[in-house]
Amino acid sequence: MAKIFCIANQKGGVGKTTTTVNLSAALTKIGQRVLLVDLDPQGNATMGAGINKAKLRASVYEVLLGMSDVASARLVSETGEFDVLPANRELAGAEVEMVELENREKRLKAALALVAAEYDFILIDCPPALSMLTLNGLCAAHGVIIPMQCEYYALEGLSDLVNTIKKVHANLNPDLSIIGLLRVMFDARMSLSEQVSTQLEQHFGDKVFKSIIPRNVRLAEAPSYGVPGVNFDPASKGAQAYIAFGAELVQRIKLM
Ligand code: ATP
Ligand code: MG
Repeated sequence: MAKIFCIANQKGGVGKTTTTVNLSAALTKIGQRVLLVDLDPQGNATMGAGINKAKLRASVYEVLLGMSDVASARLVSETGEFDVLPANRELAGAEVEMVELENREKRLKAALALVAAEYDFILIDCPPALSMLTLNGLCAAHGVIIPMQCEYYALEGLSDLVNTIKKVHANLNPDLSIIGLLRVMFDARMSLSEQVSTQLEQHFGDKVFKSIIPRNVRLAEAPSYGVPGVNFDPASKGAQAYIAFGAELVQRIKLM
């Protein structure tokens, strides 16, 4: 059965999508069967995996509203060699349209249950908000991976996210836990990065992944080619870091 993880942080632009796409590619490289779920109307993970979001037969939107299922809506990322349940701006409407539906926060969970046996990992790229879409992600998942930039304001938003995860754990999804915090876009030349990084380790201990993703231009260039950074320039520091992170995650799961 697949381990289902959300990549979540309500702050915008902190590296959620970059992490979801590259972790999917890194896990695929070590023989894991992966489904990436794009739960963001921006469709960045869809595009980053080389899939044209403007030309979708069906997407996660239809799946959430019960008009399609994962098996018919998913596509293969040719550049990443994993499966993708894609998204585009239609998904923004789901927020409102789901209000009428029963069990609206568990629609994604129900849909993924039908394909979970086909994968080792299902990774959900969440939008930058604690919205009904993110709530669907959190209800469907076993755990949350939180990408964080090591800057002063990063810690401020973190308590809101941790509180939301605690509430979902208590009321909606007892399986949910924080798998770990991933330091991303790390700039070793900035002393603030080191300071915040040390604070994170002191406060969250083992929950902070050992792998650190550096700021690396190749990771930022890769999406415009529709190729995960891990495959775009496998020798780059960014790619190597995500490959190490994939291995660390698999190891951590074994110990859970
Ligand atoms: P949003 O909240 O809008 O969904 P996000 O949290 O998904 O954003 P990304 O889209 O992954 O964040 O990253 C934001 C920007 O930073 C992108 O332009 C991306 O290419 C760039 N970026 C992400 N990680 C790195 C990195 N390690 N090095 C350099 N650039 C990076
Ligand atoms: Mg994103």
